[in-house]
Amino acid sequence: MPFGSFKGALQDGLKHGYAVGQFNINNLEFTQAIVEVANEEGSPVILGASEGAIKYMGIEYMAAIAKAAAEKSKVPVILHLDHGGSFEMVMKCLRHGWTSIMIDGSHHPFDENVALTKKVVEACHALGVHVEGELGRIGGVEDDLTVDAREAALVQPGEAVAFVQATGIDALAPAIGSAHGHYQGKPDLAFDRLREVRDLTGLPLVLHGGTGIPDEDIRQAIRLGVSKINVNTENQSAFTDAIRAVFAKDQAVYDPRKYLGPAREAIKDAVRAKIRLFGSAGRG
Ligand SMILES: [Zn+2]
Repeated sequence: MPFGSFKGALQDGLKHGYAVGQFNINNLEFTQAIVEVANEEGSPVILGASEGAIKYMGIEYMAAIAKAAAEKSKVPVILHLDHGGSFEMVMKCLRHGWTSIMIDGSHHPFDENVALTKKVVEACHALGVHVEGELGRIGGVEDDLTVDAREAALVQPGEAVAFVQATGIDALAPAIGSAHGHYQGKPDLAFDRLREVRDLTGLPLVLHGGTGIPDEDIRQAIRLGVSKINVNTENQSAFTDAIRAVFAKDQAVYDPRKYLGPAREAIKDAVRAKIRLFGSAGRG
């Protein structure tokens, strides 16, 4: 089937109390593994395309691979730009068939974030493409934040209402203390903020940095209105660990299929566990 509806999938998740997983793709094997498991589990799925991965794969190759996966799929597959940084990047993706976009203006002052996001929403909505925006700063685990810095990075619920109204976005990623990469210790999520933002905006919310958040916190986030969760690091680790294991056993391996095959299988296990945790199995 053609690419699925981003807004439709997230609204359904919000209504029925589950989250759709966004799993980032880095190559053909990631794409195959993610879409195969989504089909086995009967779950809608979002393929995340970061600017770095687009650069690595080549935008034409990435679009063609994702499109082939969607066409072969019996469940909705959505190709989503992850952390798009500029209007130009968004235009490039639209030209290559993307049907949903994240514009991340969170490193700009509030007014500039609003202006950039609004411009992207106007262009995308004219084409029936949906948009996720970000408010507050979702950093990396390497950012060792002080208490004050953490507070400054978290979403301000009052700003969230103004942001949603001014931009017309379809989903919001509010910074609530999660981070990209592997956490050192237990992540500390600001659930009170999440609840407030949900109550004030009514929009589907997105949780970034899904790797390493305890299952119970994931369930709590979904109960509080998160209907999309992004996972990348866990799949990257599973993929690379599987390749390491092949070479640990036999240094003489030279056929790429002999290590990329097991790596692809390792991603399938990781994605399956997340789909079941997020409650999206059987919702596709
Ligand atoms: Zn992210």
